Amino acid sequence: MQNDTVFGKIIRGEIPATKVYEDDRFLAFLDINPVAKGHTLLIPKEQYAWIHEAPDEIIADIFVKANHLIRAMRKGLSCDFVQVSVVGNEVPHFHIHLIPRFLTEEVSGHLLRAHEPYASDEEAQVYRTRIASAL
Ligand code: AMP
Repeated sequence: MQNDTVFGKIIRGEIPATKVYEDDRFLAFLDINPVAKGHTLLIPKEQYAWIHEAPDEIIADIFVKANHLIRAMRKGLSCDFVQVSVVGNEVPHFHIHLIPRFLTEEVSGHLLRAHEPYASDEEAQVYRTRIASAL
């Protein structure tokens, strides 16, 4: 069955995304409504609505990939740590939120924090490149 979610459309190239990483099984791209600049989503290309539906091998490999991205985000964005969240309120295609965080910022309820939009597509590209080139 065709994956009609917004992420399925991104995978098929039907709608644009600022891609940070791609291979035959996984794709990472900038969240369109970032909680912090550099907020990245990592997805398996195969659609599983929820994390509990994904096979163990996908879970193991996607979290290894997430950690590679986390290290690249630490290096490329100079953040102190990366918040890892699995939510799924909006898009029924399992995805991992990777959100750059700084120890100096005031901590409040993770995704409920105010969002931090990019000033322009060019600014989003700068963040994409900082992460991608540190991978
Ligand atoms: P949730 O399903 O609650 O984990 O949230 C889905 C996330 O996907 C939200 O943070 C959205 O901002 C993000 N999102 C929705 N559409 C797009 C898109 N076209 N490109 C990038 N991120 C998106």
